[in-house]
Amino acid sequence: MSAAASSALHRLRERAGVELVERIEHLDAVRAERRVDRALTPPDAGAHVDADVVMGGGGLSLLVAAELARLGVSVTVVERSRAGAAHREWNASDAELTPLVETGIVTREELERIVVARYRDGICAFHGGVPRHVTGVLDCAVDAGPLLARIREVASARGVRFVDGGTVDALGVGPRSVRVAWSGPAPGEAVARVFVDGRGASSPYATSDLVCPTVGGVLRGLRVGKGPRELDPQLGEILVTTEHADRGRQHVWEGFPGHPGEMTVYLFYYARTRDARGPALAELYARFFDTLGEYKEGEAELVRPTFGYIPGWSRLAAAPRAPARVALVGDAAARHSPLTFCGFGSMVRSFRETAGLIASAVAHDRAPPSSVVPELPVHAWTGALATVMASGELDGPKLNGLLDAAFGVLEEMGNEDFAALLQDRMSGTRFTEFLRLTGARHPAVYREVLAALGPVAAVRWGARLAREVLA
Ligand SMILES: Cc1cc2nc3c(=O)[nH]c(=O)nc-3n(C[C@H](O)[C@H](O)[C@H](O)COP(=O)(O)OP(=O)(O)OC[C@H]3O[C@@H](n4cnc5c(N)ncnc54)[C@H](O)[C@@H]3O)c2cc1C
Repeated sequence: MSAAASSALHRLRERAGVELVERIEHLDAVRAERRVDRALTPPDAGAHVDADVVMGGGGLSLLVAAELARLGVSVTVVERSRAGAAHREWNASDAELTPLVETGIVTREELERIVVARYRDGICAFHGGVPRHVTGVLDCAVDAGPLLARIREVASARGVRFVDGGTVDALGVGPRSVRVAWSGPAPGEAVARVFVDGRGASSPYATSDLVCPTVGGVLRGLRVGKGPRELDPQLGEILVTTEHADRGRQHVWEGFPGHPGEMTVYLFYYARTRDARGPALAELYARFFDTLGEYKEGEAELVRPTFGYIPGWSRLAAAPRAPARVALVGDAAARHSPLTFCGFGSMVRSFRETAGLIASAVAHDRAPPSSVVPELPVHAWTGALATVMASGELDGPKLNGLLDAAFGVLEEMGNEDFAALLQDRMSGTRFTEFLRLTGARHPAVYREVLAALGPVAAVRWGARLAREVLA
């Protein structure tokens, strides 16, 4: 670990305690090792089943557990720490949050309390370019703590059983059921019809080809105002760069105001999974502290650190897959946008359909489909763009130049197209129009994309896009 990373961890330890630094070290270590589940003796066809579903991991995927229980499926959730207690800050748009009300997780009034801030405007601004404005996207800041606590409460009331402090580390898949074992203070084992893997980026099956190491958290003490380096409570900063790519790595800021006087700020970069090795989070925190002043002014105090690896799948490489009777959800499945990495938005849009597919498999005593998370066509096209950003080929000012051109085109196409791309609902026709206009504005894009993807992936991508547009 570099000296800067050790010093960042030291500063974090002083501010946020030993336990948090241990979590960072754990996440970095898990990535370095790529653990696999131990193999258990598979249950035979007539084995007694303890629960219809055992779910490993009780983070955001708890939504699937709560919905399964609503559909009458018996569920046990085994979580390494405490289910429904993870600390994150999320943002999404109003419409995306509606399923939380429709499925009885929260009432409209409770939702209003969980949304801690709403912004008038959102921007994407790239170093050397101009801010590009969009509205109605990622404009509600959600207080993840109360939301997760509420999901747990609802799930519990619907009969979900919780095993807190259990680390799922062994599986045995039989013809009609799966044996799951966990270690921890109270080790145990259960047989279920389906194992739902919600272990996030730590799942052994989280094998997607892209990853977004992300660090930051809730800050206080930033100077409030309308300047670009001030906290504007009316403005969500979706993607902001304050420097050019350095040795192929483009660091990106995201910042959105929350409770009065607070702003959630993240620093992240796109990477190919194979390149994000070593203590990436520790090193990124060092950079966060060193360069925060270039993004925002003031006497920043990090009051709630949040961090993690968000997996992404380009759709140009093999999809994360698990054995029969194991259903990947959330970050383990990585079916969210490879461009925005908005796993929260994706989960709230899709958990009903995911739970429906699993419940149907349980009801018909068969394995669930190989993917229980609905796949949106737009991801097959944006995955290539994310691969370009992760490739490291566009060094120096090249990537910022391309991003400024592309987002300038989106702004000109209008708010509906801009929002549709960021919310995973852009059509193939509009996406090709977006590419055509970007090519006209920034002709180097064809050469740059070819260099970053390589000819095989570039042709595959082009063919897929053409198929979709002609269909
Ligand atoms: C810093 C950060 C900021 C983010 N901001 C946004 C945002 O603004 N908007 C947005 O849409 N998305 C955002 N995301 C993405 C979003 O948080 C994730 O997509 C989402 O949390 C994925 O849910 P999950 O349940 O799959 O995984 P998680 O929420 O990560 O939960 C996984 C759970 O599994 C547990 N676990 C791990 N291994 C085991 C094991 N072996 N046994 C038992 N339990 C285990 C973990 O303790 C954890 O509780 C952000 C992610 C990060 C890291």
